[in-house]
Amino acid sequence: MKYIKLTNLQSFFLLDSISRWDAKRCLANKNNIKLQKCQVKLKKALTVLTFWKFMVTKFCIFATMTAVIILSLSQQVSCAENPFLNEIKTVVLDPGHGGHDSGVQGPAGTLEKSVALGLAQLIAGQQKKNYKVILTRSDDYWIDIPGRTAVANHLKADLFISIHVGGSFLHQAKGITIFYYKELSGHALKTGADSSKPEDASNPQAIWDNIQAGHIASSEALAKIMQNNINSQLKFFQSKIQNADLMVLKGADMPAILIEVGYLSNPGDEKKLQSPEVLSDFAKSICNGIDDYFQNHKR
Ligand SMILES: [Zn+2]
Repeated sequence: MKYIKLTNLQSFFLLDSISRWDAKRCLANKNNIKLQKCQVKLKKALTVLTFWKFMVTKFCIFATMTAVIILSLSQQVSCAENPFLNEIKTVVLDPGHGGHDSGVQGPAGTLEKSVALGLAQLIAGQQKKNYKVILTRSDDYWIDIPGRTAVANHLKADLFISIHVGGSFLHQAKGITIFYYKELSGHALKTGADSSKPEDASNPQAIWDNIQAGHIASSEALAKIMQNNINSQLKFFQSKIQNADLMVLKGADMPAILIEVGYLSNPGDEKKLQSPEVLSDFAKSICNGIDDYFQNHKR
C-alpha cells in the first residue's frame, strides 16, 4: 500500500470535496426519506379511499335493497289491503219509469221519466269524482223493479236512491216527498212498474223481498239528512218524509230512499222542474245529502 503525501492545500481541497459529497449524500438520503414518507402517506390515503369506496358501495346496495323491499310491500298493500281503496263508495241512482212507461205527465207535457233521468245524470256528473255512481238506466228504456234493485244488490252498493216526480188528481198537491221503506200491510206498492201485472212469486229476485227490513234505521237517517240538505238548497219547495211499503225499496239490501222531486200535476212545480237551474240545485242538494250521509253515518 502506498501512501500519498498531500500538501496542506491539497488536504484542504480533498476534505472540502469529501464534505461536499457527504452533504449531497445526506441530501439524497433526506429526499429519500421524504419520498418514503410520501409513499406511506399515499398508501394510507389509498387505504382510506378503498375503505370508503367499499362502505359507499355497501350502503348503495343496502339502500337499493331496502327501497325494493318497501316498494314491493307497498304494492302488495295497495293491491290487497289498501283501506283507502275500499273507502270508495258505490251509489246507485234509479231514474224511475222509462220506455213505454212515461210516469206522470204534467199539464205542459213534461214527462216524469225524462225529469228523473235528467236529474240522475246531473247527480252522477257531479259525484263521479267522489264515488262510483251507477244508474239503473242510462237512457229512455224500461226496466222492471227487481232489475233495478238487482243492480244495486249485485254491486253491493252503499246507497240506493230512486228518483221520481209526484202526480196527483189534486192539482194543489205540491212539494218534495222523501220515502223510506216501512212494511205497512198487504202488498207493497209498485212505484215505477206496471201495477196491472201480478207479482211473480217464482221470480228469482223474490229472494230479495223484504231485505230492506234490516236497513230501515239507516234509510230513515238518510231520508232526514237528505231532507235537511234539500231544505237548505231549495227553500221554495216544501218537503216531507213518509214511510211506505214501496217495492222498489223493499228489495234493496242497503240504505235506500225514493225522492219525489215535486208534483208534475201541479203547474207551478212543473214550471220549476222545467228550469235547468232548479234541476241543478236539486242535483246539488242530493249530492250534498249523499256526502253528508257518508261523513256522518256509518253503515
Ligand atoms: Zn214515478
